[in-house]
Amino acid sequence: MALALRESFLRPRYHTLVPSRSGRNERNTVRYRFVVSASARDRRPQNVEGNFFVDHTCIDCDTCRWMAPDVFARIGGMSAVTKQPASKDENIKALQALLSCPTNSIRTEKQMKEVVEVNKMFPLPIDENALPGVYHCGYHSDKTYGATSYFISHPEGNIMVDCPEYKEILARKFDMLGGVRYLFLTHKDDIGEHDKWARRLNCERIMHIGDVDYRTADVERKLHGDGPWNIGSDFELVHTPGHTEGSVCLYYKPMKVLFTGDHLYKSGETGELGMALIYNKQSVSLQLDSVKKLLDLDFNWILPGHGRRVRFKDNHEKNATIEDFLASKEHLYGNVSTRNKEPSFA
Ligand SMILES: [Zn+2]
Repeated sequence: MALALRESFLRPRYHTLVPSRSGRNERNTVRYRFVVSASARDRRPQNVEGNFFVDHTCIDCDTCRWMAPDVFARIGGMSAVTKQPASKDENIKALQALLSCPTNSIRTEKQMKEVVEVNKMFPLPIDENALPGVYHCGYHSDKTYGATSYFISHPEGNIMVDCPEYKEILARKFDMLGGVRYLFLTHKDDIGEHDKWARRLNCERIMHIGDVDYRTADVERKLHGDGPWNIGSDFELVHTPGHTEGSVCLYYKPMKVLFTGDHLYKSGETGELGMALIYNKQSVSLQLDSVKKLLDLDFNWILPGHGRRVRFKDNHEKNATIEDFLASKEHLYGNVSTRNKEPSFA
């Protein structure tokens, strides 16, 4: 049941399972592969008329809707263009969303020559005044189900948080910004093409041992125990198990930012805090205990992997919001996920 549910989330609609051309495998059973049918690339009828549109391969990851909220919205369980971009700024934001869509489901009727320039804009500053040196990498990957990744410029060594799709143009931008010294992986779902990035950037990967598996066995620095651990003087790594055993948040102390992976985020649907309950792979109770830990940290920003970012007015508002959230989830205490015995998915 849980497996079927998971697969229905992972498999974009209109993808069809067909026997593979390579025929039978070593166990003499037929291999299958997913193909995207031609009609899947058609314009969804929910789009307004005009140049930009979303096709049927959308996986409802929400990325375009928070990157260009004036253009995209959720209709019928997928994204759609609800207003064609009308200004230069809206046009740029729509193209940034197009380039960041993990399944290339956003398309245009006519060729957009501006896309060449927009391609050079990543990574995007999150807030130049409030968060200097903190960037959104863009290029969300289908291997992480469209998770957000970040780049932090820092005098003691730049940090990438989780992995975007591998793009040489982005790697060259990182070179220009001083390279990447550390690749911090919040948890096993958002590792993406970590090996390719690590080879290209020659960086040290950091991940908690609880989430290390055959894909990440050669990660350079494995965190053991409950921490906290440090990267230089400004960053603390906070163990927040529950979503997965090895979930860790990166706390950027002077900027008062917490990079949370899938531990805590704002839901695009409700606008309230969320903790990816249906994707929980360890224990909901434990995850709630780990959310409680955050009351002891002084931060104003949540920059998550999945879900939307949050900016609080101050630590007082942050704590009040988290306390309300915990009170609303009290009935879930004692709930241990049934998914913790299943193989993980990226
Ligand atoms: Zn996750």
